[in-house]
Amino acid sequence: MSCFAKEYEFLTEIGIEPRNYGSFVDGYWKGSGSVVSSVNPANNKPIAEVVEASSQDYEEGMQACFKASKIWIQLPAPKRGEIVRQIGDALRSKLEYLGRLLSLEMGKILPEGIGEVQEVIDMCDFAVGLSRQLNGSVIPSERPNHMMLEMWNPLGVVGVITAFNFPCAVLGWNACIALVCGNCVVWKGAPTTPLITIAMTKLIGEVLEKNSLPAAIFTSFCGGAEIGQAIAKDTRIPLVSFTGSSKVGLMVQQTVSQRFGKCLLELSGNNALIIMDDADIKLAVRSVLFAAVGTAGQRCTTCRRLLVHEKVYNSVVDQLLEAYKQVKIGDPLEKGTLLGPLHTRASRENFEKGIKVIKSQGKSSQVVRIIESKGNFVQPTIVEISPSADVVKEELFGPVLYVLKFKTFEEAVEINNSVPQGLSSSIFTRSSDIIFKWIGPQGSDCGIVNANIPTNGAEIGGAFGGEKGTGGGREAGSDSWKQYMRWSTCTINYGSELPLAQGINFG
Ligand code: NAD
Repeated sequence: MSCFAKEYEFLTEIGIEPRNYGSFVDGYWKGSGSVVSSVNPANNKPIAEVVEASSQDYEEGMQACFKASKIWIQLPAPKRGEIVRQIGDALRSKLEYLGRLLSLEMGKILPEGIGEVQEVIDMCDFAVGLSRQLNGSVIPSERPNHMMLEMWNPLGVVGVITAFNFPCAVLGWNACIALVCGNCVVWKGAPTTPLITIAMTKLIGEVLEKNSLPAAIFTSFCGGAEIGQAIAKDTRIPLVSFTGSSKVGLMVQQTVSQRFGKCLLELSGNNALIIMDDADIKLAVRSVLFAAVGTAGQRCTTCRRLLVHEKVYNSVVDQLLEAYKQVKIGDPLEKGTLLGPLHTRASRENFEKGIKVIKSQGKSSQVVRIIESKGNFVQPTIVEISPSADVVKEELFGPVLYVLKFKTFEEAVEINNSVPQGLSSSIFTRSSDIIFKWIGPQGSDCGIVNANIPTNGAEIGGAFGGEKGTGGGREAGSDSWKQYMRWSTCTINYGSELPLAQGINFG
């Protein structure tokens, strides 16, 4: 077997070899699908090879996973929590290596890579507490000697399909909760981030084995649309959690709905940040930079639309252009880099094409300079444009920021709500009545509604997700766990009469 070059040697610490099998089936690594290379976005050179899953590998893995669900379901929830606690500890012990791999394979800067793995660890901690709080309620019955209660039971197997831009955090949001709720997990990561899929799965599999549990409780596959479709069609999977583009999400939802399965969708965003005339402009500009340029504009919560009150418009645009000039573009693993490359060569081509279209619709823009390099680096771009331009309604996945002018708060809200997506939104103002209007019924229509913080950077304690074209799903904290369980209303008669409820329906 060949060896890694020096800079990739650390990968062996997290179980990655120059050539890897990409299916974790019943505790064994195998693969009989295509051989693909995972590529470093900073130079487009291969890091390691992966043998993807074939449909036969999928079927074998699913059979084992389905069988394992009959065992996992019987473990008391706090015991399942203990397993998730150990998964958190296993990730903690490899945090630096995993973060480095994430940065290397996805292209986000190292602090973001480490931060993303930390988010999974935090999700494990959250889920451990939750494992003792999967509470239902007791409801007073109107019938004598009767009692009504709500029971929450596991679904069985939860399918998790994830996107390239958060290749492990999204797994954490779903898997930690799904596992403590009593479900087995079948995970298909993004086809361009197979190494992180394998490294995470190895750590999780080791914890299951150490506890003498079937490793098939966590089953994973590297692959693309074919495996994704297999999950969407599979009647053994009552819930499919899908994260990705609205276009693919809609297809997945239709397939899952045809078999009356449930879908949890986390789809595209097109997020606006509003700066009112009374805002702390310095705070706002720093926030916009962080939200528009971070992860090279490839976050679902990236700020794409900046809405600025006409009174502060020129000052904001000037300060922003100045701030953009300071952004250090370079190798994501290098200290001091703020902006890494786009994820793939195709993403860069798509961005360049998109910028051409945008320039034809925008009023003026910062000079777009394509950076000469072997990697997928692009210049972060600011475009002054009308809110009615077609491109503003779409999500171009890269560091492009549309700047739009408005006169009143009501107009700003209308623009905020005028796009098909509804993930995140933020307002900068010192006025409390504006903030309360913003979060109220006539305010932002998004799932995430912030004031004086950027559109990104959501905490795991709250439910994460968006409305409209973003799919309506909620993941991570708060009551999100309820989607991973089936819910029964149980009425128990402990008397010997059969009284009817008033206005009883005989259904
Ligand atoms: P994508 O839709 O191309 O792919 C997402 C996943 O779907 C991948 O694993 C892919 O292999 C799989 N897939 C592709 N075709 C499929 C099919 N026919 N059936 C089943 N699965 C299929 O998205 P992407 O380019 O990886 O990710 C970027 C998108 O994800 C952006 O739109 C971004 O906003 C969105 N996103 C949303 C959230 C959120 O929480 N709302 C989080 C991260 C990313």
